Amino acid sequence: MIFADLELKISSPKGNEILLLKTEPEVYEKTVLVIGVFHGDEPAGEYLINRYLQERHDTKNRILFIPCLNPDGKEQKTRTNSNGVDLNRNFPTKNWEKTEKSSEYYGGDTPASEQETQFLIYIIDKYKPDLIITLHEPYRVVNYDGPAEKIAERISQITGYKTEKNIGYPTPGSFGTYCGIEKSIPTITLELPENEEQELLWNTNKGIFDYIISSDFDKSEI
Ligand SMILES: [Zn+2]
Repeated sequence: MIFADLELKISSPKGNEILLLKTEPEVYEKTVLVIGVFHGDEPAGEYLINRYLQERHDTKNRILFIPCLNPDGKEQKTRTNSNGVDLNRNFPTKNWEKTEKSSEYYGGDTPASEQETQFLIYIIDKYKPDLIITLHEPYRVVNYDGPAEKIAERISQITGYKTEKNIGYPTPGSFGTYCGIEKSIPTITLELPENEEQELLWNTNKGIFDYIISSDFDKSEI
């Protein structure tokens, strides 16, 4: 039993389902989008989302979940999707660039060439989230793009993972650049630890869900 409504569903290039789930009170204040498995070899985020949705929760915000954005990569156990594209380099940002096809950071032949990327762009345009959280592995750190410093600090307090602004190396075509920097949507890239025991992973991170269902994310405080 999953306590969320199915909002949208598409098929991946290999015929796997990509789901958008929703929990929504009658009247809501903010919209939050939570995304798991951007990279196929990073399964922890899907576990956390599904674990959260096993119980009913009262939320004052509309919460959208994509438990697994990259089911083909998950099936193949690769970072990339079935076309060998790193979805986190495939967004139509100003700094998108064509890179080596053999690289596991290959950003596609053109920006937004991939169905998974197009699906996510459509969702952001349609639902206009006030906060986006993407769940990655393995660095145990809270990265952020755009006006998300206060939110990142709060998530850092909850998890004990340290906060880092997303700089250091160039990430052309990244989702954080697309949403956070170019659209000014607070965007958190939560890097979970790799191969963590599931109960520990859940206990460390469950407070994030309590936070996103109850907070106002007042932009004036960010
Ligand atoms: Zn990742």
